[in-house]
Amino acid sequence: MVLAQLGGSITRALAQMSKATVVDEKVLGDCLNEITRALLQSDVRFQTVRDVQTNIRKIVNLETLAAGTNKHRIIQQAVFSELCSMLDPGKPAFVPKKGKPSVVMFVGLQGSGKTTTCTKYARYYQLKGFKPSVVCADTFRAGAFDQLKQNATKARIPFYGSYTESDPVKIAVDGLERFRKENSDLIIIDTSGRHKQEAALFEEMRQVAEATKPDLVIFVMDGSIGQAAFGQAQAFKQSASVGAVIVTKMDGHANGGGALSAVAATKSPVIFIGTGEHLHELEVFDVRPFVSRLLG
Ligand code: GDP
Repeated sequence: MVLAQLGGSITRALAQMSKATVVDEKVLGDCLNEITRALLQSDVRFQTVRDVQTNIRKIVNLETLAAGTNKHRIIQQAVFSELCSMLDPGKPAFVPKKGKPSVVMFVGLQGSGKTTTCTKYARYYQLKGFKPSVVCADTFRAGAFDQLKQNATKARIPFYGSYTESDPVKIAVDGLERFRKENSDLIIIDTSGRHKQEAALFEEMRQVAEATKPDLVIFVMDGSIGQAAFGQAQAFKQSASVGAVIVTKMDGHANGGGALSAVAATKSPVIFIGTGEHLHELEVFDVRPFVSRLLG
């Protein structure tokens, strides 16, 4: 179930509940069952769905609610707040500050959208008045440097990479040095990906991180992987001290609800979502407005 459908199903369940003149256990139970079904169909993990249901039941205790209380409203508010909690790990990510040099390293599996997202991220901060730059430390995928170069040139963002150097650590360090001299206040390092979570990938990430001491490591993940997001985010988090996540391809038929909630379950804040292939198709991810929009 794609996100818009998830929102639609939950909204319909709430609307159905609102039609009841008396909200009793049966009406509340039916509404929660519908919401549970919608979340499970959207690939949200079972444990998370169970927690959402338990917490809503805790907030909405029909027996103890005083007569005359607007039960419809209390249920609606409880659903909203639990959906927000489901997506909010409660830990803000590092935010770059203009004029204060920051290093941000991107990690993720090949094909996740890492290289595309590096430039989108740089562009986002460029529009805010930063002086971003990008370094291509991906020596694994042939063509990675050309892709980054092309994207960066289009966005007029300084880039650094090498066709001949095969050591990603050396490229990262050289790039960092170059852009520090040029007073870039946001140096973005794109690292290699692999098709699988292999030991060699994690070792390379660790070495690049050790040499460049990033202020933030961003894990880029394809939103269409649904529940598998939990394991993937956790593996990267353990190996690269991931401080934030960007979930890409949220424009397609991705089961984005599953990916988003799975990532949140690893206590990693999602900071942006990718909504297309183009440079500007990156949206800030803020839990409350996102859930408001989801519920229409
Ligand atoms: P990398 O191997 O992780 O560096 O992945 P790329 O940046 O090369 O992206 C892989 C493919 O996904 C490319 O065709 C991108 O255009 C596409 N892509 C990246 N982000 C998004 C997104 O948010 N939405 C869509 N629809 N496509 C995306």
